[in-house]
Formats: sequence, structure tokens, C-alpha cells
Amino acid sequence: MTRVCVIGPQGRMGRAVLALARERQNLQVVSAVVRPGSPAVGAEVTPGVVATDDVDAALAQADVYIDFTTPQATADVALAAMARSVPAVVGTTGLNDRAHAALEALSKRAPVLWAPNFSPGVNVLLDLAERAARALGPELDIEVVEIHHRQKRDAPSGTALALAEALTRGRADAGAGQGTALAPVFGRAGIKDTGAPRAPGELGIAAVRGGDVVGEHTAYFLGDHERIELTHRAATRSVFAAGALRAATWLAGRPAGRYRMRDVLGL
Ligand code: NAD
Repeated sequence: MTRVCVIGPQGRMGRAVLALARERQNLQVVSAVVRPGSPAVGAEVTPGVVATDDVDAALAQADVYIDFTTPQATADVALAAMARSVPAVVGTTGLNDRAHAALEALSKRAPVLWAPNFSPGVNVLLDLAERAARALGPELDIEVVEIHHRQKRDAPSGTALALAEALTRGRADAGAGQGTALAPVFGRAGIKDTGAPRAPGELGIAAVRGGDVVGEHTAYFLGDHERIELTHRAATRSVFAAGALRAATWLAGRPAGRYRMRDVLGL
């Protein structure tokens, strides 16, 4: 039985994690951390678990923590987790340097898995996109488009950036000496008077925001007479929550270090 501490239990992802955890036999949520001074302190967030803003006390009860919050909270909690070497499953995106450094520091003492997307399907998409970029070479132009709900704070999404990295790796390895570097272009506007309207090494990334879209990502491979589209659509947050819970049971008890979702999935 893996004992889990949930950070941000009242957020969209926090609620999805708690809901799914109630159905699991192999893990138990034992504590939940809300913002310091939050009016939710003392409220029951799932049967038998009362929210606290005492991070250290909450982490002390757990084998692993799951964090879908903000870059600042992610950094603060990772630094707090260092004292007890608590394993971390982190899904917060748009991380700043401080948050990255805090996770890196924690990974010297405990296993740390940060993933911009916990959906197994998206992780397979990353793998497929890298292989397609490698196989197709520079003949085809590559672009990424993502769509998310109107509340999302960061753009482009962490998953779109991970997809761009996978495509860039694939293109760099393209065979027969054809490998070329790709450089991201975020959104496009204006008129290009000089040079090629679209430089060969561009990897355009566009973010669409609106409604309640949970998350959609497409990698486009655009040729003169053909087009390939690799798309993943998440219909509910429970796909991310399921991946995070799977990662939590997999991670608890592993040696210190950085892990990726593809390690959990055996990709
Ligand atoms: P949200 O705004 O609904 O929830 C964030 C929660 O964090 C809020 O309840 C807030 O009160 C809480 N919080 C803020 N500071 C805190 C602190 N110091 N201590 C404890 N709790 C704190 O956002 P969301 O839609 O749940 O998304 C959260 C993050 O997860 C975002 O970065 C989002 O991009 C990311 N996300 C990742 C995945 C993935 O698979 N990796 C999937 C969905 C969302």
C-alpha cells in the first residue's frame, strides 16, 4: 500500500487525483496540502483526510507526494521534501528556473518524476512523433498546434514544448546526413519581406485557448503532396490522474534520481 500526499487537493487536477485514488486498492491518500493560510485548512478533501498548510507534517506521513499546482508551490514543496527525502510525482507546467532547481536538488536525495503530461497516450505520441521526424527527414515541414481550456495559465503547453523537443531530436537524427536543426517559432504574425516566408528549420508552435478543452496536441508533417497529422485528444483529466497514480506507485521505493513517464510505461 503506497501512502500518498496530494498537494493542491482543490485544484482541477488535485480533485481528479483524489477521485481516482478513492477507487484504487494499492494506494491511499493520507494527507493533503493547501496554500498557506487557505480557508480550506481543516476541511475534509476526501474521506478521512483533512487539508493542512503544514507541508512538513503532511509529507511526514507519505511514501510519495503528487503535485499539480503552480511553479512557486512546486519549488516550495520540493525544497520542503528534501528534509525527509520524499519521492515526488510532479505535473505542474510552466516551471521557472527556481522550480527546476528545486526538483533537481530533491532528486539528489529522492526519486523525482516530473512530466508535462501523464497520459500514457501522449507519451506514446511523443515517441511516434520523434520516430516520424527521423524517418521523414527535412522534406516535410513540421508544426505543432495545441488547444486548452480558457483557464490555462501557461502557453504553449508543457506538452507542446515536449512534443517540439521530441520532433527536434528526431529531425536532428534524420538519416543520410540530412539531419538539420529545428528552431521553435512561437505563433506567427506580420509580413516577411525578406528571405523565405517560412525558413526550412522553423518549427511553428501555436496555442489555442478557450472553453473547457482538457487538452489536444497535434504534430503536423506537411509535404508538397501529402500531410501526416499525429493527434492526441484528452477528454477528461482522469487520464492524467491515472498516469500520476501509476507513476506514484512505481516511483515509491526507487533510488534517488530523475525519472520520466516513459520509464514508468517501459517505452
Ligand atoms: P488549478 O488552478 O485548478 O489548481 C492549482 C491548485 O494549486 C489550486 O487549487 C491552488 O490553490 C493550489 N496551490 C497553489 N499554491 C499552492 C501551495 N503553495 N500549496 C498547495 N496548493 C497550492 O490548476 P490545474 O488545472 O489543476 O493545473 C495545475 C497544474 O498542472 C498546471 O501547471 C497545469 O498545466 C498542470 N497540468 C499538468 C498535467 C500533466 O499531465 N502533467 C495535466 C493537467 C494539468
